[in-house]
Amino acid sequence: MSLETCDLAIVGSGLTGISAAIAAYSKNPEHIIKIYGIPFDSHTAKKGEIENIPGIEKIVGVDYIQQMITQIQKLNEEFKKEGQPDKLEFINENVTVIAKNETHFQLISESRHIQAKAIIISTGLPELKHSLKGEDQFVHKGVSHCAVCDGALFRGRKVAIIGGGNFVARGALFLRKYCKKVTVISPNPSLECDNRFLKKFLSSPNVAFKYGVDLNTVEIYGSQTVEGIKFQEEEEIRELTVNAVFVELKDKPDLSILKDITLEVSHEGYVNTNATNATNIEGIFAAGSICGIRDYIPILMGDGYRAGIFASEYLDK
Ligand SMILES: Cc1cc2nc3c(=O)[nH]c(=O)nc-3n(C[C@H](O)[C@H](O)[C@H](O)COP(=O)(O)OP(=O)(O)OC[C@H]3O[C@@H](n4cnc5c(N)ncnc54)[C@H](O)[C@@H]3O)c2cc1C
Repeated sequence: MSLETCDLAIVGSGLTGISAAIAAYSKNPEHIIKIYGIPFDSHTAKKGEIENIPGIEKIVGVDYIQQMITQIQKLNEEFKKEGQPDKLEFINENVTVIAKNETHFQLISESRHIQAKAIIISTGLPELKHSLKGEDQFVHKGVSHCAVCDGALFRGRKVAIIGGGNFVARGALFLRKYCKKVTVISPNPSLECDNRFLKKFLSSPNVAFKYGVDLNTVEIYGSQTVEGIKFQEEEEIRELTVNAVFVELKDKPDLSILKDITLEVSHEGYVNTNATNATNIEGIFAAGSICGIRDYIPILMGDGYRAGIFASEYLDK
């Protein structure tokens, strides 16, 4: 593996990371920028339609990511000189190690070893899997981690969706169109979603809610496929007959790729940044849901964009 050099490495190619790349390039197209990760593995690409981007009424997430990739490809053509490599390169590999020496950050992925003068970390939040009793046993047999991907398979059936916030609200609103009954099971005392979604639930007689459920008491059961779900509610064990359980829980940020670099985090584990998206380690910037930013696409994109601008300014200095 030969050692390559770049100015800025962006780790994570969801909409936050791609926005950062577009911003950094625009600020100074002389910088060589590498964008790591698999764009179609991002939450935006995997989670159905988006309908809150100002100026775009509705767009399928995967199409939106594709448009961003095309935009990057076009930017590469803008000032391209013959024989020179692209200024913005997607490396469709996950970074396994980020380390630091006196002058550079070292990034190792499956087939590349690249050193960079600055980094933006935008790896998002991992899905929380393998946490519920019965979850692993029934994957592809009634347990799914994506309501909008698999919901239509359970047309006319009773289903449950587990989680909280706008994603689960959107998932439940999607499921109600196909499923006979949808039960939202949330560990939170309320769904904690936008009122617009709550208003839609008012006209959804086939959606029921169970709040404040201790997820340690949840058990998905069945024989060949899912037949039901049990959980504790006010000292009693409740049992619901369902054919599918959509687990839409998110984990804490995963910073295990950092070797001998300690980023300052909040008590909830989100990366702390200042108003320029800089972390406590000089040359490392962070953006997006890994920083605990409110989980709205336009806000995350703005955060990525800002990180790109300030990382580029940092490099110019
Ligand atoms: C069900 C659901 C529906 C949603 N609907 C909406 C909506 O309608 N409107 C809205 O505003 N928001 C919505 N969201 C929220 C929004 O999609 C996410 O919060 C947003 O995608 C987060 O962006 P991100 O770039 O920070 O992280 P992600 O989208 O998670 O992207 C992170 C990227 O980093 C990559 N990565 C991870 N580890 C590494 C590594 N070691 N090396 C390299 N790359 C790595 C991942 O593969 C991924 O491509 C929804 C989310 C969900 C789950």
